[in-house]
Amino acid sequence: MQILRNIGALATCRADGGQDDVQLIHNAALIWNGDRIVWAGPADEMPANLGTAVMFDARGGLVIPGLVDCHTHLVFGGWRAGEFAQRCRGTSYQEIALQGGGIASTVRATRAADDTTLVNRARGFLDAMVQLGVTTVECKSGYGLTLNDELRILRDYRALADTGPCRIVPTVLGAHIVPAEFASDRAGYIRMLVDELLPAVAAEKLARFCDVFVEENAFTVEEARGILTAAVRLGLKPKVHADQLRDGGGAALAAEVGALSADHLEHVSDAGIAALKQAGVIAVSLPIASLYLRQQAMPARKLIDAGVPVAVATDFNPGSAPSFHLPFAMTLACTTQMMTPAEVLKGATIYAARAVGRDADLGSLEEGKRADFLLIDADDVDQWLYHLRANACRWTVVGGRTAWKAR
Ligand SMILES: [Zn+2]
Repeated sequence: MQILRNIGALATCRADGGQDDVQLIHNAALIWNGDRIVWAGPADEMPANLGTAVMFDARGGLVIPGLVDCHTHLVFGGWRAGEFAQRCRGTSYQEIALQGGGIASTVRATRAADDTTLVNRARGFLDAMVQLGVTTVECKSGYGLTLNDELRILRDYRALADTGPCRIVPTVLGAHIVPAEFASDRAGYIRMLVDELLPAVAAEKLARFCDVFVEENAFTVEEARGILTAAVRLGLKPKVHADQLRDGGGAALAAEVGALSADHLEHVSDAGIAALKQAGVIAVSLPIASLYLRQQAMPARKLIDAGVPVAVATDFNPGSAPSFHLPFAMTLACTTQMMTPAEVLKGATIYAARAVGRDADLGSLEEGKRADFLLIDADDVDQWLYHLRANACRWTVVGGRTAWKAR
């Protein structure tokens, strides 16, 4: 048994209540046994006769659930700093893609990299994410775009999951773009996805989710419908990159195919919002990508007011979001999407856990759930997300064990 005492504020982030209700408890304590939470509540109500317990002192700090980054493209080769400089000079993301840059250039770099290089690099990213308080990461393939390269990336995620400490939720994104060699045979590429890649992924249990990038220069709604319907038949749950650069009907498709989340949504229509609400789809906001592409922010207020839960993630990738700093994304969600710090915290914990199908055991601090939690050097949630620092996280615990501790 282990007890964290002297917690100034404990945000349990239980699912009940609205998005802004993080179920805050002042002067709290948290008790866990092995990898499970046993009790969380006001210190003066702590159960007696706990037997011998190891005590920890939070020194009045803030304790929150481990953060869940529910949208990343973690394994990739190379960087794209040159394109960043081009975009700073005014060239658009779409123009760069048409010149053979963008996702296609990362595909070339990823195919050329060996697995040891890719895994070691991704492990370095994960180590840094754990220090920031991220304990679960959704990781997409999508820079291989051949049967073997997509499987290779998903097996890299399996290797990363096996070594921990971060929990990994893998997603197959073979439908990221149509690779150059299939430029004149889109149907042929989609046949490869549906007939070969998805069955192989399902057989080897390499992913829980199947994602499709619905966008001009990527996949149409009709193409995405076919791919996601095939994925569902194989037991993979759908996700959609939707309405990022324009309203392309991605949100409505996510609702139609029973997606767990629709991600981006900078240009989601009112009809799209109504469809998400009706189908119970989580909206995942990716404010770092909106910032780097100078996109309008996702209309988070409209979504929340319509009853759609809004999660917040990084979209970490070498093009539109070259940062895995989830607390930075969370502060951006406050300033650009007009979400309150409390709403954002729920968006990066319990709602993000729901977006990756793990809310039964992750995302909140309640009896029976995994002991994934953080000690933050701040009085409360508002102070934490308001005062942006390199890192306010002091202690990251995953499954009851220290994954990282500040010196
Ligand atoms: Zn993405």
